[in-house]
Amino acid sequence: MKPSLVWFRDDLRVQDHPALLAAVADGAAVGLFVLDEASPGVRPLGAASRWWLHHGLEDLGRSLAELGIPLLLRRGPAATVLPEVLDALGAGAVYWNRRYGGPEREVDAAVERRATADGIHAETFAASLLHEPWTVRTGQGGPYRVFTPFWKAASARPVRSAWGLPDAGRGAVLSLPECPDGEGLEAWGLLPPRPDWAGGLGEAWEPGVAAGEQLLEDFASGPLHHYDEDRDRPDLDGTSRLSPYLRWGHLSPFQVRDRLLAAGGGAGASVFATQVGWREFCWHQLHEHPHLATTNLRREFDAFPWSWPQDGAEEAALTEAWRRGRTGIELVDAGQRELWATGWMHNRVRMVSASFLVKNLGIHWRVGEEWFWDTLVDADAALNAANWQWVAGCGADAAPFFRIFNPNTQAKKFDPERRYISRWVPEAGTPAYPEPVVDLGASRRRALEDLASLRAEQ
Ligand code: FAD
Repeated sequence: MKPSLVWFRDDLRVQDHPALLAAVADGAAVGLFVLDEASPGVRPLGAASRWWLHHGLEDLGRSLAELGIPLLLRRGPAATVLPEVLDALGAGAVYWNRRYGGPEREVDAAVERRATADGIHAETFAASLLHEPWTVRTGQGGPYRVFTPFWKAASARPVRSAWGLPDAGRGAVLSLPECPDGEGLEAWGLLPPRPDWAGGLGEAWEPGVAAGEQLLEDFASGPLHHYDEDRDRPDLDGTSRLSPYLRWGHLSPFQVRDRLLAAGGGAGASVFATQVGWREFCWHQLHEHPHLATTNLRREFDAFPWSWPQDGAEEAALTEAWRRGRTGIELVDAGQRELWATGWMHNRVRMVSASFLVKNLGIHWRVGEEWFWDTLVDADAALNAANWQWVAGCGADAAPFFRIFNPNTQAKKFDPERRYISRWVPEAGTPAYPEPVVDLGASRRRALEDLASLRAEQ
């Protein structure tokens, strides 16, 4: 009997995994993960993502082993690696859960064509979104550009419940000699070399399914019920912190939705469901606009005079001050330091800090997007790019450019006792803390003038 291959990508789990269930239903299954840094257009992972992936793959390997299924690790362009592995295995079928980025879809289509041409059954499944991007359409059949009608239309569609685990002991191929050798995870060098800057990440996070499921349980049985009130407060544990678990697919959105429904509704659950809806909307956008991370959705912003760090020493110094949390603006610095130390930043502070970079420092949103891509453990191709564009005012359903957050007012409102700021910027208010790198009022006025001249030119 020929084994079936399951190709894991952004779905590092064994529960609610349709591709794995299909492979196991065939008989003997083998798992594969390909570190693909060579396919054209596929964005290389940032450093924090690589750290997470290392531990996530260890976790996946252990879970698969409990089911008697080996996990092969290979490096290279997936369109080359897959045919090699399928051939070496003598596989009869290959299964994977679909992904939605442009270059990734091209790779997947090439693998599917090649497998089919080689007489191997290739089948793909929906698993990482509640609604695949092309299933939610306007009355005219196009994509949505505004969140509220998108989510209304999506919410009217039926959604399945999460599926469970495959039966254990079905991966009988484990001991077959023809199972091709994989590579060692250590050899991939995903963990930081010396100096090891990832200590704080390890303290803040436990990558893997069990930790994600525990977080979901803890959140749903407590903070969820006050989510509508607490979610904007970085000084409280008011949000779920599920983002990296969803990003890496340790949890499926179907599992999250089921748990939400079991929690019995209420304002907290409803606002939380909407946030999960934003996740769907960001992927809807990336599917329509594969260059979301590099191109303004509203092209009129192409003429906006944003600067780049390479424009000069001043921009470089300002960018570095922002990255390291040394701008002299307390809430921004607290957020940037939280990010650097833990690989995560509270959503309200992400918005404030991004707004500050783009509107007060006048630096291009792509500079910030790239920094977040490198440092976030939840760095997500769609969510990161769409949110940066949203804050910058050039994205779909974006916050208007002229709405500029005042970080100090935001701090008073959302960190009223300064607990968050004191935690991350203990020297705030002492001579050791830098003076603001920019005057908030003057820089705000300049940004509005730039916007006015952009409009006048068009
Ligand atoms: P919760 O408040 O508990 O929300 C639950 C889930 O809903 C999140 O895990 C996430 O999957 C989804 N969600 C929440 N807010 C948003 C949002 N604004 N847009 C889309 N989905 C959302 N999130 C990422 O996962 N990866 C990123 O790379 C990312 N980059 C961002 C960049 C900027 C500039 C901004 C403003 C936001 C970004 N976000 C990103 C969205 C949001 O900040 C995080 O999802 C959230 O802070 C994660 O914490 P949580 O899991 O506790 O969220």
